[in-house]
Amino acid sequence: MKEVLKAITKNPEETKKFARVLAEEIVKTKPGKGAVVIGLEGELGAGKTTFAKGFARGLGIKEEMKSPTFILMRVFRKKNRNFFHIDAYRDQLDFREFLKSNKNILLVEWSNKVKKFLPKNYFLFKLRHAGSDRREIKLYA
Ligand code: ADP
Ligand code: MG
Repeated sequence: MKEVLKAITKNPEETKKFARVLAEEIVKTKPGKGAVVIGLEGELGAGKTTFAKGFARGLGIKEEMKSPTFILMRVFRKKNRNFFHIDAYRDQLDFREFLKSNKNILLVEWSNKVKKFLPKNYFLFKLRHAGSDRREIKLYA
């Protein structure tokens, strides 16, 4: 995968907005063959769950998004789309079944732990600390 974009956010709101805009673009795009998959890599506190919150907002999901580290997966339904928020930190849930439908959007925190289940094409975001409230976000595709 190649690095295609790099951004620095200065606070959590900027990270949320970044992810929200991404989600809005994805919903506008014509559905492909299978699910859309977003992988998030980055150490604890890098902003993966913050990103997930913004992303869900971009899909029009109003429910509160918690870190699912203790909940393997949460599913939200919105306008004929299913949004799967998965956290692979502790348990490597086999989510391949959900990759089949192009109505599905999967966002996987700690996607580096479940590489064996990821499809060939997906969006990989690597987040890292770049200061106390600064985060670097790199997109690979
Ligand atoms: P992760 O899921 O990667 O462990 P979280 O999103 O749960 O990370 O936590 C990130 C923490 O860092 C939150 O407390 C958030 O408020 C804080 N933070 C500070 N600056 C940023 C930023 N630019 N982007 C995202 N989170 C930030
Ligand atoms: Mg998290």
